[in-house]
Amino acid sequence: MTGLARLSAGAIDAFDALAVGGVALPRRKAAPLVAAWHSAAPRDAFAEKLRHLASFGVPVRLDAVDGDAARAAAPLLSKAVRAGVLVHDQEYAEPFDLCAALAASITRRGGTVVEGAAVRELSAVASTARIGITVGAAEDVAEFDHVVIATGAHLPALAGSYGVRALVQAGRGYSFTAGTATPSPTPIYLPGARLACTPTTGGLRIAGLMEFDRPEAPMRRRRIEAMARAARALLDVDVAHRKDEWVGSRPCTVDGLPLIGATRHPNVHVAGGHGMWGIGITLGPQTGRLLARQITGGTSLPELTACDPLR
Ligand SMILES: Cc1cc2nc3c(=O)[nH]c(=O)nc-3n(C[C@H](O)[C@H](O)[C@H](O)COP(=O)(O)OP(=O)(O)OC[C@H]3O[C@@H](n4cnc5c(N)ncnc54)[C@H](O)[C@@H]3O)c2cc1C
Repeated sequence: MTGLARLSAGAIDAFDALAVGGVALPRRKAAPLVAAWHSAAPRDAFAEKLRHLASFGVPVRLDAVDGDAARAAAPLLSKAVRAGVLVHDQEYAEPFDLCAALAASITRRGGTVVEGAAVRELSAVASTARIGITVGAAEDVAEFDHVVIATGAHLPALAGSYGVRALVQAGRGYSFTAGTATPSPTPIYLPGARLACTPTTGGLRIAGLMEFDRPEAPMRRRRIEAMARAARALLDVDVAHRKDEWVGSRPCTVDGLPLIGATRHPNVHVAGGHGMWGIGITLGPQTGRLLARQITGGTSLPELTACDPLR
């Protein structure tokens, strides 16, 4: 918690910095985020856990409320909801739009985004790093001053020979979009069902589950069906006609902390292993900003001490 709190302290500020730098981020304020349960006892335990975060320097403003107040803030909650927590000062974003905005910004500033490419090898000597890239049938080699390996659950494949011994496993999760009669004004978290629900075009994106398997293993349909049943118990949503069924991997480390920083070679770095704390969204900009500072400044940053990839 201490390591994650230190990293996340600047997370929102890092999104602000991207916006100031001209990245058109699709950010929205949660008004407020609503967590909901069938009964009051788990709500009180959850509220206690969030309050405890203050002792790590992450104060969270929240209100414990009854079912009616939770429904007033999140009208998609069903009558089965008897208790809720309103979590203030939260934001959310549409991940696909976020990726597109970042890619557009890189291109606009003269960078190149190569899609559908596999990096098959990485060799670093002296102060240059070379990567061998395969794009379709074509093979290419490119040379850089610095390389950051950010290959998610596949991180050990390229980083292993640079001294990164940490295990990174795919903690796979599922999501789908359920139709809603009206758009939800806010994200909804259902801790008892372990489902996180975010408003998206055409409904509510419902995400959850944690299964450890190969990243490329096929989707297990019964998992999505179990999630749909759990969602229907607490939400007025149309799970029967769900769309965009998806399985993805959370790159998970054994100690729950990400791997951010230089490897044994000073020009080869890694950024990954964020698990549920998404380099995808929550800690993405902050990870990029701190790593960039460390690379350009040449000195280790205290915020990244706990995330040393060589630990
Ligand atoms: C169901 C679910 C819900 C989630 N919800 C949230 C959320 O609400 N908020 C949040 O912040 N996070 C969330 N996460 C977590 C977040 O998605 C992950 O933490 C994030 O995707 C990890 O980012 P990454 O870049 O490290 O890895 P990835 O997103 O896995 O990206 C790594 C990329 O590298 C590519 N790659 C691998 N090997 C190579 C190679 N040799 N050459 C070229 N490319 C390669 C892969 O194809 C992949 O595209 C969720 C995850 C799941 C599964």
